[in-house]
Amino acid sequence: MKKKSFLGLQAPKLFYETFKSIPPNPQKIPIPDEIILFHEGALVKKDNLLIKEGEKVKKGQKLSILPNDNGRYLMPPLSGVIKVIDKFVGNFGKEYISIKIGVDKEQEIDDQFAKDVVQINTDLIKNNFQCIPGKPPVMLLDNKTIDRIIIKGLDSDLLVMTNQYITRSYTDKINKGIEVLREGTGINNISLLVFKNQLSSEYKNVEIRQVDTQYPSAFPELVMKNIVGKEVPQGKKLEDLGTCVLSAESVKAIGAACEDKTIPFNKIVTVIKKDGSSVLVEAIIGTPIKDILLIQNIELKEKDRIIVGGPMTGYAIYTDEFPVLPDTDGIIIQDSNDVSLFSDNYCINCGDCIRVCPAKIQVNMLVRFLEAAQYVDAESTYDLQSCIECGLCAYVCPSKIPILQYIKIAKFELARTQELEAEND
Ligand code: SF4
Ligand code: SF4
Repeated sequence: MKKKSFLGLQAPKLFYETFKSIPPNPQKIPIPDEIILFHEGALVKKDNLLIKEGEKVKKGQKLSILPNDNGRYLMPPLSGVIKVIDKFVGNFGKEYISIKIGVDKEQEIDDQFAKDVVQINTDLIKNNFQCIPGKPPVMLLDNKTIDRIIIKGLDSDLLVMTNQYITRSYTDKINKGIEVLREGTGINNISLLVFKNQLSSEYKNVEIRQVDTQYPSAFPELVMKNIVGKEVPQGKKLEDLGTCVLSAESVKAIGAACEDKTIPFNKIVTVIKKDGSSVLVEAIIGTPIKDILLIQNIELKEKDRIIVGGPMTGYAIYTDEFPVLPDTDGIIIQDSNDVSLFSDNYCINCGDCIRVCPAKIQVNMLVRFLEAAQYVDAESTYDLQSCIECGLCAYVCPSKIPILQYIKIAKFELARTQELEAEND
């Protein structure tokens, strides 16, 4: 079997790219004729849904999709008519409801937000900012145990520069977003995370925290440990330690929404081309990726690969009809000649994965349990839940074992089992 390292890089130490100066403005992608939105959940029967094909929707209108949906909703980024409702199966068989909207020539905007924005509080944040660029976990902000917000002015994965760009270019909007978060949630402990030697005299009312440029120092769990000084225990999340992480893009969108009295749905995405060069584009959420490729003159050939996210943690998709989602920060187009293949070779026990693992997991042992689908043992004996999913182990593995995929499947399956058990109780 052909074996090749992911991007042809061999060095075990990887560094984030940083801007030397503010890059050119992102290229605007024209408004598409159709957009596709995804809502998490299974489509059992269309009759059970709270929306229907043929229904007219406005830009920014709050739509309930499933009955008993725990406060989740969808907001169309453009007005139009719902053309098709279908099911979409994502990674590991996770189900979504896919909603295709034919976009109006003349846009009709829902005015509820403009009326509500006069009063800034947690309800305003929760009821309007779930689907904005950056996809902030706004439901967490309603949780009284959260007392710290970390704004990520950088991206966790390599080559993706979306949030770094936004932090450099939209100071006023981010400052406004910080003001709204303070006022709306009452949380004063807010810090902005940037790379060392980047930024920033423009951010005066927020604590600046700086991280090293060596991958994966920008991962939230490592930030908590190395910068805040709190270790995230196995199986716990940052919110269990009272911390909510928001991307700079989502804070910018919150600031812009409250200033302009209209919710923005323009998403900035880093596109990494086949030759490794990257460019920033600005597209409405829901825009099919094929529209971005067209504007960027990127031709897809058979066996080329599209990856959503960065090179270490991104996931491959099988169609260029896949839309830009609220949290799509990066898109990589890989030439078929550069596509790395995983192998079914055995672990040779070289120990490279253990040496690079920032979570100090005994990855060589963990892999043995994951290959045998013994997920409960992997969790209880080999620290599965301590994994931060940085992908370094898979990157260095000479046997090209798809370790990160194994880990993600195991966590997904364990979470699904837990959910089913809770339902049956
Ligand atoms: S992905 Fe691999 S290297 Fe990264 S934390 Fe998990 S086990 Fe360790
Ligand atoms: S790097 Fe790969 S081959 Fe080496 S010990 Fe880890 S899993 Fe085994």
